[in-house]
Amino acid sequence: MIDFLDLLLKQQVCLTQQGQTEDLSWTWLAEGVLELTPKQHYEKSVVISAGVHGNETAPIEILSQLCQDLLHGRLRLAVRLLCILGNPAAIRAGTRYLENDMNRMFCGAYQQLEPAVETRRAALLEQLLTDFFIKSPRHAKPYHFDLHTAIRASLLPTFALFPYQTHAYDQYVLQCLEAAALDAIVYHNAAGRTFTHFSSFNFQVASVTLELGQAKAFGQNDLTQFSHIDQVLRAVVSEQALPERDKIRIRQFKVIDSIIKQAENFQLNLADDAANFSVFEQDQIIATQAISEHDAHLQAQIVLHPHERHGFEQHTVEGQRYIVSQPQVFILFPNAKVKLGLRAGLVLEEI
Ligand SMILES: [Zn+2]
Repeated sequence: MIDFLDLLLKQQVCLTQQGQTEDLSWTWLAEGVLELTPKQHYEKSVVISAGVHGNETAPIEILSQLCQDLLHGRLRLAVRLLCILGNPAAIRAGTRYLENDMNRMFCGAYQQLEPAVETRRAALLEQLLTDFFIKSPRHAKPYHFDLHTAIRASLLPTFALFPYQTHAYDQYVLQCLEAAALDAIVYHNAAGRTFTHFSSFNFQVASVTLELGQAKAFGQNDLTQFSHIDQVLRAVVSEQALPERDKIRIRQFKVIDSIIKQAENFQLNLADDAANFSVFEQDQIIATQAISEHDAHLQAQIVLHPHERHGFEQHTVEGQRYIVSQPQVFILFPNAKVKLGLRAGLVLEEI
């Protein structure tokens, strides 16, 4: 039987590209992309993706194990399902990405980068997702769960990010997040270039990005730490009842700003290993940068994030400081080492 993670790690092409089991048919669409269709009636078209960042191994293992259990009849498929291992080259290399962060290149943003393995992969994934949702029967409700693990520690270890959307947040997804014992939900305030923004914006999919804790190398993950989300994904694909939440209430945050790195001298007022959801109080300085004419010239060429605002106040001609104006904010994904023009952190407010 096909094992799409094993094939990917060995960089082998699948010789048989489709097949059947007692209760489903499967098609190998591309490296790391497997479509499964149940023989029974279904009401949902579900995409589950992992490994858009290549070193986030635990979700990759969870998804590939789930596929194996479906293909071997140990778990009964009750939805139309597309399983995606996002960035095969980076997964093999054990790195987040090779050239550029793939989860900043969707919605066509790859077209503004030098063509490379990852830009071609992002284009292919957009095409495969488009085909999957366009072919979805009208009665089938569309879902997309994109699984990640964080690079850094987090004061709230597991959380979900909803892409900015104008359609209502899906109740079933919210129930899944509760059942998966997540600590927090974060609502984006602006269009991004993420995989879930692509599916949500283009096909009105109920999409969510899940950050599931910290991962280790292949085979060294303690998958029991991921048992809640594993149970929920299994309940989703087999249309079984969701487990009961066994944790305190989920906390909710909204993104109020994106901090954009605009100069090489950009500095965050945080330790390099500061945790996600680190707190800043009113009047504290989150970041500083001095934008020179040279940087300004580079800026003019960077058009990756036309929708994202930046909250820097111009204090002197050559300097900028980002100062907190709210009573309390939380910083998510702080990273001063991103490329110019990219997001060095999100500023959140608790709802
Ligand atoms: Zn990730």
